[in-house]
Amino acid sequence: MSTVYKSLIISPNPDKSIKTYNPGYMAISDNGKIEEIREENLHNKYKGYEFVDLSNYLIIPGLIDIHNHLPQYAFAGIGDKELLPWLENYTFPREKTFENKEIARESAKIFFSDLLKNGTTTSVTYVTIHKNAADIAFQEAEKAGIRAVIGKVNMDQNSPEFLTENTEKSINETKELAEKWHGKENRLFYVVTPRFAVSCSLDLMQELGKIAQKSDYFIQSHLSENRGEIDFVKKLFPESQSYTDVYEKAGLLGPKTIMAHCIHCNEEETEILAKTRTIIAHCPTSNRFLKSGIMPLRKYLEKGLRIGLGTDVAGGYSLSMFNEMKEAIENSKYYQVFVDKKTEPITPAEAFYLATLGGAEVLGFENETGSLEKGKNADLVVVDYKKTDPENGEGLYNEPEQILSRLIYRGGEQSIKEVYIKGQKVVKFA
Ligand SMILES: [Zn+2]
Repeated sequence: MSTVYKSLIISPNPDKSIKTYNPGYMAISDNGKIEEIREENLHNKYKGYEFVDLSNYLIIPGLIDIHNHLPQYAFAGIGDKELLPWLENYTFPREKTFENKEIARESAKIFFSDLLKNGTTTSVTYVTIHKNAADIAFQEAEKAGIRAVIGKVNMDQNSPEFLTENTEKSINETKELAEKWHGKENRLFYVVTPRFAVSCSLDLMQELGKIAQKSDYFIQSHLSENRGEIDFVKKLFPESQSYTDVYEKAGLLGPKTIMAHCIHCNEEETEILAKTRTIIAHCPTSNRFLKSGIMPLRKYLEKGLRIGLGTDVAGGYSLSMFNEMKEAIENSKYYQVFVDKKTEPITPAEAFYLATLGGAEVLGFENETGSLEKGKNADLVVVDYKKTDPENGEGLYNEPEQILSRLIYRGGEQSIKEVYIKGQKVVKFA
């Protein structure tokens, strides 16, 4: 149904500042597109439209999580180890259970439902090596209404026997899933998913790179997360200059490739990432939880590297992108205090940009989503922002930047009222 909303509206600008409409009027057509957004009253101009007065609420664009692991959600918040032993002890035994279709389905339902409840309308997601589990994840994402980029994990070496694939089978199953789902409804996309260089042979990585390039699929993997992992990769690929060089030689880098973490990359490696326009998924919560390190976010932004934010559940303990924005700011402060005093922390507006329009831009979805502008899809989160204010919006601290900052630090699932994708309500809290 076509609708005009009246509400406080905050949307990111491409220069990482914010645009505020106070109050704003937003007309949405019955095909879920934003027809007009302005401070002028649109109630009379759009006569046949339903008018919804949300004057006490805030509307922001749907949030974008560019890195998470569906099967790991079950143990979010648990684990006291660094990356490699954490994978052995928590991740791999859990991922094994996804050979069971009922477990895969039940987990996928909970996962996508909880993403939406947290205001995440676009998600880039790893499943497991199991073809059925990845297929089920796509089915459940389709039903949930979320915009999702999903991949079956590929692993053919240095993994437990129960998660080690035959290389050819891994490649064939990847092709089948990608052909079935990529581009469906312009909302579901396939991402080729070699887990990381430790668990993939060069043959597998090269072949996956070719498949992705030929059909313009996304690629995702992990890069330079943890010192133990980096040392392992060095031993496995002694002829390579660096961890990043392993992926470049395998043909896996490019503008549709998302590399998670990239914490310890040296100068040459960041040059390669810049040159190939590879996307970095910055996952600050996970980076502290697994004691991996602090990524130099400000430095990377200044270099022009392409960056979005990811929760990395369950290296990260929360599906909330509000939490991830907060941790991105806090990690950048930590970097200034303990590593480089000359590096400025990022601002709440910059964190907001990374979790919305920035994520959309790196994924190439910026004409569809990421900000509230004429012609884009109405992917919206309606927030009860006064709940985050001890003075219920009646006090002195109500500049748009202050409302946004308080929302990032004190908001979350509990402050969300409704979530829309393409104008369709996908979440409603009482
Ligand atoms: Zn990850």
